[in-house]
Amino acid sequence: MINGSCLCGGVKFEFKRASGPMEICHCNRCRKKSGSSILPTLTVRVEDFTLLQGKELVKRYTAPILYSDPAYQSYFCKHCGSPVPPLVDNVECIEIPAGLLDNDPNKRPDKHIFVEFVPPWDTISDELPQYKIRDLVRERQNQELPENFTLRTHYD
Ligand SMILES: [Zn+2]
Ligand SMILES: [Zn+2]
Repeated sequence: MINGSCLCGGVKFEFKRASGPMEICHCNRCRKKSGSSILPTLTVRVEDFTLLQGKELVKRYTAPILYSDPAYQSYFCKHCGSPVPPLVDNVECIEIPAGLLDNDPNKRPDKHIFVEFVPPWDTISDELPQYKIRDLVRERQNQELPENFTLRTHYD
């Protein structure tokens, strides 16, 4: 079992295995959620995930929609402020902030995503593939962004 918890230890969870990619997100929303330069997340199947304790501590913030549904959401512990895994069951997989883990998930980061958001004070210093929003839309939604597409942040 792989275990994780929030800063205060009120929220605890476990999962059998990580099923999907471990991605390092540089988007401005993930940076604000984590308070750090990046937010590495691990994809886990909902059926492999168990919340052990702290359901009553979990709050959700839904950000304004920038482009289209679904809205960006942040689940966090209302006692200590740590991000926590999303408590949803109508999806196949969830993304878990890797900094919450207390042991080795036996996965390693495989790519950087939303790299156009890397701030001037940060540097990517490994050889992993780097995906921009255009690459992600192409790969995940099998669509092409229009030529005149412009990046937005929640400040716009
Ligand atoms: Zn907490
Ligand atoms: Zn992100």
